[in-house]
Amino acid sequence: MIKKSLLTTLVITIATISSFSQSETKKWAIALHGGAGGAPSSMTVERKAEYEKHLLEAIRIGEMLLNEGKTSIEAVESVVIYLENCPLFNAGKGAVKTIDGTHELDAAIMDGSNLMAGAVAGIKDIKNPIMAARLVKDSTAHVLLIGEGASSFAKSMGLEVVDNSYFSTRQREEQFNRIRDNKEQTDPRGTVGCVALDIYGNLAAATSTGGMSGKKWGRVGDVPIIGAGTYANNNTAAISGTGHGEFWIRRVVAYDICALMEYKEMTLEAAANEVIFNKIDPMGGSGGGIIAVDKNGNISFVFNTGLMHRAWSKSNGEYGVGVLKGEEKSFKR
Ligand code: ASP
Repeated sequence: MIKKSLLTTLVITIATISSFSQSETKKWAIALHGGAGGAPSSMTVERKAEYEKHLLEAIRIGEMLLNEGKTSIEAVESVVIYLENCPLFNAGKGAVKTIDGTHELDAAIMDGSNLMAGAVAGIKDIKNPIMAARLVKDSTAHVLLIGEGASSFAKSMGLEVVDNSYFSTRQREEQFNRIRDNKEQTDPRGTVGCVALDIYGNLAAATSTGGMSGKKWGRVGDVPIIGAGTYANNNTAAISGTGHGEFWIRRVVAYDICALMEYKEMTLEAAANEVIFNKIDPMGGSGGGIIAVDKNGNISFVFNTGLMHRAWSKSNGEYGVGVLKGEEKSFKR
């Protein structure tokens, strides 16, 4: 009798421990951005609804993968592929133009579990630069490949090749004409990025962009510079940035946020606020921000502009979307 009740207690204890650890290890979180530039006044109700629809579709892709037990790297890559294929954003189809009227794309991906990273810059003919970045990480001994070399590598790995005109949209043509005719300042709009924590406790970040509209002479921005626009480290956080890349590079923004967390023991939110508002802002780097997720699944969106296209989802069923500052829609599954 005593033996039986002991056994029952043991079984209940084991069941409790295993269900606890299962719910703990099942914890995941994901966030994405579709850029932070542009005037909030240009955001009509219809336009905002269109952005929100695509942001929610993209986050759903990542959410389903993480729920199935896929890794954070797989999730961030898949989300960014969706956003690259969506013409609304300045990445892949819909990328801005260089001063010569062509498209040159940058992308990067980083695995916070082992600090392995891959990036490409100045891509002209690979449909999904983020896939090329992932292959640089997984299939080469290098971190960053540029221009024709990066394209040759991507082609040798079987990635889809497109004509440079594939990336154009009517909206980007018109924007290019306005910049060329000095009717508009170059303004970063619509870079895309995704950060995630998977059920194994691993963080990952991915970012993809057409860069700055009207950029010159083979200019490369912050996105493929590991530590500037993209960074992930399981000890701290995964970060993806958007904004005027030159400021992001000089302030090593993504790494700086992680460093403040690691060395000063700041929270993700405090570290991100410190870098965006006390370091980037005073230098004149307005019109940008970051998305981030830390090792505990806390998500941060910090931006010094009136809007940032963003969406998020967590394993507790909460998810949401936002475009304008201070205006977010949250839901529960
Ligand atoms: N950060 C990107 C760049 O400078 C632009 C953007 O975020 O829209 O290339």
